[in-house]
Amino acid sequence: MLFDDLPEARETIASVLVPVAVPEPYTYRVPAGAHVVPGSIVRVPLGTREVTGAVWDTQPDAAINPRKLKEILHVHDAPPLNDELRRFIDWVAGWTLAAPGMVLRMVLRSEEALEPEPPVPGLQRVLDRSPDRMTPARARVLATAADGLAWTRSGLAATAGVSTSVIDGLAEQGVFEPVFMTATPLPLPPDPAFNPPQLTPTQAGVAEALVANFDRGGVVALIDGVTGSGKTEVYFEAVAEALRRGRQAVILVPEIGLTEQFLRRFETRFGVPPAEWHSEITPKKRARVWRGVASGEVQVVVGARSALFLPFSRLGLIVVDEEHDTAFKQDDRVSYNARDMAVVRGHLARIPVVLASATPSVESRVNADLGRYQRHVLPERASGASLPDLAVIDMRTEGPERGRWIAPGLVSAIRETFAQKGQSLLFLNRRGYAPLTLCRSCGHRFQCSQCSAWLVEHRMKGKLVCHHCGHTEAIPRACPACGTQDALVACGPGVERVAEEVEGLFPDARVLVLSSDLLGGPDRLRREMKLVEEGGADIVIGTQLVAKGHNFPLMKLVGVIDADLGLAHGDPRAAERTFQLLAQVTGRAGRITGGGRGLLQSYSPDHPVLKALLSSDREAFYRAEIEARRAAGLPPFGRLAALVISGPEKAATEAYARAVSRVAPADRAVTILGPAEAALAMVRGRHRYRLLAMAPRQVDLQGYLRHWMTLAPPARGGLKLQIDIDPQQF
Ligand code: ADP
Ligand code: ZN
Repeated sequence: MLFDDLPEARETIASVLVPVAVPEPYTYRVPAGAHVVPGSIVRVPLGTREVTGAVWDTQPDAAINPRKLKEILHVHDAPPLNDELRRFIDWVAGWTLAAPGMVLRMVLRSEEALEPEPPVPGLQRVLDRSPDRMTPARARVLATAADGLAWTRSGLAATAGVSTSVIDGLAEQGVFEPVFMTATPLPLPPDPAFNPPQLTPTQAGVAEALVANFDRGGVVALIDGVTGSGKTEVYFEAVAEALRRGRQAVILVPEIGLTEQFLRRFETRFGVPPAEWHSEITPKKRARVWRGVASGEVQVVVGARSALFLPFSRLGLIVVDEEHDTAFKQDDRVSYNARDMAVVRGHLARIPVVLASATPSVESRVNADLGRYQRHVLPERASGASLPDLAVIDMRTEGPERGRWIAPGLVSAIRETFAQKGQSLLFLNRRGYAPLTLCRSCGHRFQCSQCSAWLVEHRMKGKLVCHHCGHTEAIPRACPACGTQDALVACGPGVERVAEEVEGLFPDARVLVLSSDLLGGPDRLRREMKLVEEGGADIVIGTQLVAKGHNFPLMKLVGVIDADLGLAHGDPRAAERTFQLLAQVTGRAGRITGGGRGLLQSYSPDHPVLKALLSSDREAFYRAEIEARRAAGLPPFGRLAALVISGPEKAATEAYARAVSRVAPADRAVTILGPAEAALAMVRGRHRYRLLAMAPRQVDLQGYLRHWMTLAPPARGGLKLQIDIDPQQF
């Protein structure tokens, strides 16, 4: 008789993935009358809490007695997560060694989205009814509501420019009838035929190839095109194809590349703005986009890396713009690279993926060279404009006088540009006024008490700021160490200090600092970007924020204040990063009209990165980089994982790191380095040590790490062990 009970038992049990760091889903009883399927989003008890999870399987283990289980509390009225997304979550968890529930958490990013929005009262035009008497105000209301869509009373009044009493009068006469409607309507669908561009023959060839990929399963295409070559125009054609096929598309961009300008370009091409997804959107919008994506009603999302984890119901295309950008790497909690995970999601869903960059990552270049990715080259700017002329200013012989940061050669180039009413951009990847402040009298340096980092003076805010933990303090008049008054000196330049120098040199120029930390937040930044675009500034001083994604049509000259910054790091990826950043930022010059110039101030003008930039022999640079990586067994030729061990006390943290290191399984294929103090030895009061595991590509490094972690002593007393697969810093 035991077996007769089984079907019954099966139906009443579900395994539920809960959003906490446990290795497996938990089993729950399905309450009578409730219906769940794999992917259903449910509310369940967990210890003394309630959490939102997702049903992973509906027949987990028939041997479990359902009566002993806790019961699912509520089944949310939201579309279930589809198969493809659930497989993606499991895959990401397996790859990053994060708990699957922590990956699920990145999917369930809007509580509000889990239930339908409650309907609100509205009004709808009754088409065969006319008012007894027509007035201009009434005529405006009728024209506004002529399409027969429902409106809220106040929304209709505001849009038609009448008082609500006009609306009430029409409703009394039966010209409008009461209905229930959703308060936040969905965005209008983008139209692939709205405003197609005139592509150049080269661009058209690439666009055609991208369109053909829709019939070829999970193909990855790398668009390798110089700045201004029309990569965006071209991948928009792939987006149009997704729309024509009734499929959804997601465009991932580095968060700060998500500018007003980009959204406007989308609107110009498709008639409506795309749905946005990033850290700044309101909870209401977030809920609307999440639900719209899950139901299939939102067709195109432009977003930061987290948009990759949206529950698309019929995803047809993934684009990763500026694919080389380090902003796609997330390092906290689940550490993943959205570019790589995009390729995986595309593969699981058998849909095309497009990666675009003017300076592709070495990883993507190698994948293209090995035939794993298609590679499409756009060698010329779409406008026909020439690429900027680049030159190095040797700071050893042509540098400025002491205490100044802009060499005479750069000053005269700015002067010429200004005289010809062109814009100049001075690039320095350092926020604030000066990277280091010290006391002239005793040499005291201002350091963050919680991080191994100097405090940075931000003169505009009148504060000393730690760029790692955000700690802020007032700039003291007296040195806290020796008490000397007014003895603080700023060492080295930040953007604010360069701006001060520029203002002294060019009192008539309109000078603007663009830096992510300025007062006013992202809105002000968007306004200022637009101001520059429209010619409202002559000289712009900016951090890496200006290097990315933005088109400034009047920009003629780009001066790099410190081209060596970034090369000094002990990080083997420093050369690649610096090359990418300098190519991107100098690529801002002369994008539309040509005739752009780039001047790079450097103390080591013979460095291979600068040589490669100047000779515009990009290929030589990639060849050398790829060879160096191959020789050292570094990614993409080898696999790499960092174990970051942190804790409140230095000695205990180091001891724990050693204990973890001691139990590393012996394996000839895997090399373990460290433990060593991390590059930033302390952040937010936590000391950090790192171990590095290296292995050839064919080794299952994740499997090795999983085994290792079962042997590692438990992390107690505030100690933490985090695994970072393919770390940014080696
Ligand atoms: P990228 O993404 O490669 O930097 P964009 O797509 O931003 O290049 O294009 C650079 C500029 O050239 C934009 O202003 C874009 O509108 C323009 N552009 C691109 N392709 C064409 C084309 N075929 N005809 C005219 N203008 C174009
Ligand atoms: Zn700090």
